Amino acid sequence: MALLEVEDLRTYFYTEAGIVQAVDGVSFEVERGETFGLVGESGAGKSVAVKSLLGLIRPPGHVVAGDIRFKGEDLTEYSEAELREQVRGTEISYIFQDPMSALNPVFTVGTQISEIIEHHRDVSHGEAWDQTVELLDDVGIPDPGERANQYPHEFSGGMQQRALIAMALSCEPSLIIADEPTTALDVTIQAQILELFDDIKTKYDTGMIYVTHDLGVVREVCDRVGVMYLGEMAETAPYEELYRNPKHPYTQALLRSTVTADRRTDALDPIEGSMPSAVDPPSGCRYRTRCPVAFDDCSRAEPPDYDIGPDHAAACLRYEEGGDGDPKLHETGRPDTGVGRTGGDR
Ligand code: SF4
Repeated sequence: MALLEVEDLRTYFYTEAGIVQAVDGVSFEVERGETFGLVGESGAGKSVAVKSLLGLIRPPGHVVAGDIRFKGEDLTEYSEAELREQVRGTEISYIFQDPMSALNPVFTVGTQISEIIEHHRDVSHGEAWDQTVELLDDVGIPDPGERANQYPHEFSGGMQQRALIAMALSCEPSLIIADEPTTALDVTIQAQILELFDDIKTKYDTGMIYVTHDLGVVREVCDRVGVMYLGEMAETAPYEELYRNPKHPYTQALLRSTVTADRRTDALDPIEGSMPSAVDPPSGCRYRTRCPVAFDDCSRAEPPDYDIGPDHAAACLRYEEGGDGDPKLHETGRPDTGVGRTGGDR
């Protein structure tokens, strides 16, 4: 049994402009000790998908369908109080993009971490403080004893993100969700934080979901990757396989537009056009309005996931008949969510 199993997740926002189908039928798994990268452009639905796991979607947004199984338990059955007491921060921690918005400016960093430890574990105040200093040391903060007594504004951006990672680790969670955690940092600090994530995975054997728009970053930390486009999962594969053998035209375009050690910036090929609205997505394949190899059927049929190889699936009709071998069709029944898939032709 995987640590986390997400099946056919759908999260919609009921706005005056219409129903925003932000996440529409997304499935993926995360194993213990594995880092799963969730990748895509802004607006792909990555953050909404991971916030849905923890019940962090607020009205007008709602999780309208799907199973979220964590250690075999269905989190969609949990009340808000159960999620707060038994899941968030204890079993699953969330690291936000902007550390300053997650740290309280009026308390010292050490106080904020030790309070979490005291709240969730049966330890004395002194023991919680000792564990806090140890955690700050673990995440590479120098002079952790002194630093624990400082306020967030006395930390640099990279140090604040390290403090947030220490906070996420404070209750020894089984799963960490890191939502664009290095976007606000400069490149050197970003590299150090990515290295830290790699160390954490090894030391704590924690499952991790790493959300990012940057496939180059994914390469540093992720074992497997899911590529999202306009609320749907376009392709999933182990990272090396995805990098060497991308199958979905969107993944191929994303890779061509990504800076890597072996691709110079002048060789980049930006993706044409922009992502359509999730209120009235294109009928059939949602990527078809930007896809250079779209054909007639792409506007008529919604692509299911095709097995491309071991642990590798792509939702593209090009793999319907043969392609690479003999892809097997998975049925993807759509539950009745009150939203049709008429979608505008653009
Ligand atoms: S289904 Fe059609 S439009 Fe969609 S990615 Fe495949 S070829 Fe392109």
